[in-house]
Amino acid sequence: MALPPHVPAPAEPTQPPEKATYVIVGAGVHGLSTAWHLAMELEATGKGSGADIVLLDKSGPGHGATGIACGCVRNFYMTEPLHAILRHSVDVWMHDPINFAFQQVGYISCGEENQIDDYAKIHKSQNAVDYHSDIYVGKDAHKFLKRYWPDFKTGPVGVVLHEKISGYAGTLQMVEGFTRKCQRHGVQCHWGVDVIGYDITSGEVTKVHTNMGDIACDAVIVCTGAWMPKHWRMLGQEMKLDVRYPDGGLAKDQDMWTYWRLLEGDVYMDTPYRDARDLDPPVLHVELMNTPVIDSNTGKEMSDHLYVYWKNGAERLFDKMGIQGGTIPIKLGPEATVDPYGHANREYWAEPEFADYFTSAMGQLMGRFEGCRDRFSKRPNGGVGAFTPDNVPVFDWILPNAYMIADSNHGFKMTGVGKLVAKMLIGGNEPEELKPFHLDRYQTGKTFGDRNSNCPWV
Ligand SMILES: Cc1cc2nc3c(=O)[nH]c(=O)nc-3n(C[C@H](O)[C@H](O)[C@H](O)COP(=O)(O)OP(=O)(O)OC[C@H]3O[C@@H](n4cnc5c(N)ncnc54)[C@H](O)[C@@H]3O)c2cc1C
Repeated sequence: MALPPHVPAPAEPTQPPEKATYVIVGAGVHGLSTAWHLAMELEATGKGSGADIVLLDKSGPGHGATGIACGCVRNFYMTEPLHAILRHSVDVWMHDPINFAFQQVGYISCGEENQIDDYAKIHKSQNAVDYHSDIYVGKDAHKFLKRYWPDFKTGPVGVVLHEKISGYAGTLQMVEGFTRKCQRHGVQCHWGVDVIGYDITSGEVTKVHTNMGDIACDAVIVCTGAWMPKHWRMLGQEMKLDVRYPDGGLAKDQDMWTYWRLLEGDVYMDTPYRDARDLDPPVLHVELMNTPVIDSNTGKEMSDHLYVYWKNGAERLFDKMGIQGGTIPIKLGPEATVDPYGHANREYWAEPEFADYFTSAMGQLMGRFEGCRDRFSKRPNGGVGAFTPDNVPVFDWILPNAYMIADSNHGFKMTGVGKLVAKMLIGGNEPEELKPFHLDRYQTGKTFGDRNSNCPWV
């Protein structure tokens, strides 16, 4: 079957070198950001250059989740250590917002009264790391929302958080921008090169085996997104583990990796999506845990709670004006068909029930979206991701010279991770911001996951 028109074809393989100091596997957001920042660190410290880095992708840059993400850049997490990571990420986005297609429109999250305490904690923690946000409660929250969207049906909303420096980025444009940065700094980029194994001698990776030959290396950085479980196995790691929680609870024999499928889609509009200022509105995220979603066509209850997010879709490979957004992902389990990936894989396209839910919820929230079911785009959408046991990223050495950036599918927004990892690789000291995300948290009881939400991203 022909690929949907916006699915990129795999690149023709190019021959990688036989050795390199650093091999980075995977050219999604993390591989690209790490390669670019590592090249800059090498240059700045006089320790080398981009030519010391080989960046590989079995298909091409942005051919994984990075190329199909909604592109939301926000910091609404109960997991407080993520707030500092996101502060770095926004700095990276703002380093070159034009080439990364970053729209700093802000982000607004809305909840009901039951979430006021959570919002207050998030607000405090964000501001403590200079991630500027404001909080509004009750009538003030309603007034604040109406300033942007006069047709917002604010009834059930009890609390609002406004992240001023968040926004969204164009996915394909961002991939091009980061790839150009890597190339300008002399990183050896090779697409169509599939890593098929690792040579591990005395516990360290000595060579990366590829379909185009072996590459001897000093260190490998694995950034393979949904393919992480495969690389985890190839690096000799266990697929099951015991997970200890801060309250002393122990969950034995858990899956290290669980696949979830993300549900997203687009709704077309006749006029540009604008707010009362006649500007591109902030990214919007609404979780109403006590408000059911009613199907706008049948009048039947579809869900006893509402969870949606959306933002302007016009910057993406969008053929019409409109918005793009999604809802809570669906848990699949430890196995999933990862190839073909993304929109090329029909198995994981968001189904019509998602369109019913999404458009009904949008109509429930804003007058302008009432009856918009017919405007839901029929193009493929959605995709799978590999999540960790607490659905929070793991950034850590899995072997003494093999580092893993596994973002648990949070991570289009996390361009700052590559910057921090590059500093560690060259400076030797691990930045404090990365430390909470070590693997041993599952043994030591520092596992994350405390939440008051129906969503796995906490
Ligand atoms: C539908 C959808 C919507 C999303 N929306 C958002 C959002 O709005 N905001 C947000 O922050 N996050 C979002 N995410 C999550 C985000 O896209 C991912 O967390 C992030 O892009 C992962 O980046 P990565 O670099 O780890 O992996 P990827 O982007 O998946 O890149 C991994 C790369 O590794 C390559 N690779 C794999 N195996 C090999 C191998 N053996 N040899 C060589 N190369 C290999 C792949 O080809 C791929 O290009 C979304 C995800 C999906 C699926």
